[in-house]
Amino acid sequence: MKPSLCHLTPLRADIVSTAQRAYHSGLMAGTSGNLSCYDPESGCMAITPSNMDYSVMTPEDIVLMQLDGTVLDGGKPSSEWKMHAELYQNLPEVRAVVHTHSPNATAYAVLRREIPCVLVEMLLFLGGSIEVAAYAAQGSAAVGTHCLPILRRKPACLLANHGVVTTGATLEQAYTNSIYVEDSAKIVRLAMSTGSPIPAVIDEEGSKPYHE
Ligand SMILES: [Zn+2]
Repeated sequence: MKPSLCHLTPLRADIVSTAQRAYHSGLMAGTSGNLSCYDPESGCMAITPSNMDYSVMTPEDIVLMQLDGTVLDGGKPSSEWKMHAELYQNLPEVRAVVHTHSPNATAYAVLRREIPCVLVEMLLFLGGSIEVAAYAAQGSAAVGTHCLPILRRKPACLLANHGVVTTGATLEQAYTNSIYVEDSAKIVRLAMSTGSPIPAVIDEEGSKPYHE
């Protein structure tokens, strides 16, 4: 590895531990899902590798690459690297992206149905409802492009017939957002099995969320 990339070593370790947490939290099955961070100083993206079991992944397996696809260190990057690159190129505040196929949220993604905003956490962390980005073939840059109209306004969206993507200023933030997306989907599904969930709204002062 080039000495100029040594400062990314802690980030690689952080990606592995977060990926393993996501796997053990049930957000990802098998080798699905992928996580990345972007370092604007070096223009380098650190991303999980393609098709590797999370339980055996080490920091050295995390691929360091430029947003144009040039690999600087490591093996084959996640097949979704173009989506991650597209998001970093167009969302200057974003430093981390988490993509999962978490089951409850992905159930909405395959229905192409928005998850309504029914929880305070959704207002505070996710910017309200979780909208669905238009379908794009997995692995294409269009997966990212189609998310942009939503991700410019809020840090989470569903990918039609595919899964979930969340963003953050840190990896921890993007990861927490992915947990909240799955939790929201699960609660809405559970509530819908009994009745009609009532949307959460923000009061006129715009600060305190409450339920109508
Ligand atoms: Zn995927």
